[in-house]
Amino acid sequence: MKVRLRNPDQEVEVAGGRKVHDVLGELGINPDTVLVIRERELLTREDRVAEADLIEIRPVISGGSSDNRMKCRRCKAPAVVEIRRHNAAFCRDCFLRHVHEQVKRAIAHYDMFEPRDRVLVAVSGGKDSLALWDVLLELGYRTDGLYLGLGIEEYSTRSGDLVRAFARERRADLIEVDLERDFGFDVPTAGKRGSRSTCAVCGLSKRYVFNKAARDHGYDVVATGHNLDDEAATLLGNTLRWQTDYIARQFPVLPAEEGLARKVKPLYRLSELETAAYAFLRGIDYVVEECPLVAGNTQLRYKEAMNQLEATSPGTKSQFFLSYLDRAAPLFARQDDVTLAPCERCAQPTTGRFCAFCRAQAQILGERLGEPRSFEDEERQLVAESADEVLPAEIYAAGRPS
Ligand code: AMP
Ligand code: ZN
Repeated sequence: MKVRLRNPDQEVEVAGGRKVHDVLGELGINPDTVLVIRERELLTREDRVAEADLIEIRPVISGGSSDNRMKCRRCKAPAVVEIRRHNAAFCRDCFLRHVHEQVKRAIAHYDMFEPRDRVLVAVSGGKDSLALWDVLLELGYRTDGLYLGLGIEEYSTRSGDLVRAFARERRADLIEVDLERDFGFDVPTAGKRGSRSTCAVCGLSKRYVFNKAARDHGYDVVATGHNLDDEAATLLGNTLRWQTDYIARQFPVLPAEEGLARKVKPLYRLSELETAAYAFLRGIDYVVEECPLVAGNTQLRYKEAMNQLEATSPGTKSQFFLSYLDRAAPLFARQDDVTLAPCERCAQPTTGRFCAFCRAQAQILGERLGEPRSFEDEERQLVAESADEVLPAEIYAAGRPS
């Protein structure tokens, strides 16, 4: 038996020879919300329909579409992703286009890079960075990937495998650096041996390796997969502590400086839900589990807090971060003019004799590097060298005297 449904119009085939009530039940339709029409007569739920009948099920609730399925804002096809803060929903193809447009807009707005620039995309194996690499490849940019092996048990093994598989499928080039192989320590060891927290060494190592790889291999810019939720949570953390030094550095573009490559975050306009949906719809296999070493993750709590606000007032998150960029960021513009000089050990730029990475590495490996320094000096240099990727709370978790 044929059943015609409205809003959107579609025809489905179901078994006849039974009561209207049963047909509606199978279709998951509440009998109180529809008229059931055969030819020119109305049927009640107790009426029987035959195999040869053609019936129409017409919604009666007015004041907007009575059909619960959302429609694509662009093409009116059934939607698969809803974005409440934009008060919009999209079908698959229009959603992918929406993501591309948001990234294009980010790149253009901050002059992140040009088609001729060589872009190094730092890919962790997570949804954000793989989605980013995918978008940039689709948009035709000249990108290669960079994967840093952190040595965090199966988590790292699996991330590395997924990144390699992604690169292979798309015939894209991938640079691999391994902390243990190339620098003599992995993240779990670093957390146990040094004076910094695990997250702090990890963040420090990423920033160091991203920059070094970009310079060693001649890339113009390093792109990371930070999304809107990451940025809003980081900003919330920095604001709660009024960490003005960090706030000043939290920007979608950090320009190149002597010895430092340009850094960009082209996903800053897209929420975590959007990057995850994009990765899923594009068939990207990514690590779903989180890093097992992140204990009592502060950033996660800030994300949850933001999500609570977002649930009752969609748009809070993007307003908080995007309005910060437009209106508040200029007020925090960097005052301190630090002079950078090559690290005496590795030649990467630093504000002291040795860079933070070399100092951490020496400490972890039990080597001596120049004069011992006071905690305050350490901290001052750490602040000066920190980019935006690490939430200060994670750095300060390193047993800071209170
Ligand atoms: P996270 O520090 O884990 O929040 O990651 C932030 C961004 O840094 C990611 O979106 C990636 O672009 C990059 N990233 C994180 N971990 C790695 C890694 N192991 N190798 C390469 N890039 C990474
Ligand atoms: Zn160094």
